[in-house]
Amino acid sequence: MAINTEHFKQKLELEKKALEAELVKVGRKNPDNPSDWEAVPSERDVSQADENTVADGITEYEENNAILNTLESRYKDIRSGLDKIAKGVYGTCQVCKKEIEEERLEANPAARTCMEHMN
Ligand SMILES: [Zn+2]
Repeated sequence: MAINTEHFKQKLELEKKALEAELVKVGRKNPDNPSDWEAVPSERDVSQADENTVADGITEYEENNAILNTLESRYKDIRSGLDKIAKGVYGTCQVCKKEIEEERLEANPAARTCMEHMN
């Protein structure tokens, strides 16, 4: 049974938009590499000279960076899924090359492997 790529494409596009909305809260696109994002300190960190605030700022930056890394890794998976759809190779397990179960793609449209090879 052929995979309904149009359906999963919509799911991927939706999640991509949601991720981009989250990414712009904690980072910005790297001007030298548009597929890469970098964390930014929040605005109040640079406008306040108070030492405690600066310390908070560092923590916040590190937090943003951690959030950003998680989001970015998911963002890359989503882009990779969309890329596979574009190339007509979507829904194939990268280990056994068999078709990925539809219910697995439903749970995670960016899945790279079938249920048997998910770890
Ligand atoms: Zn497999």
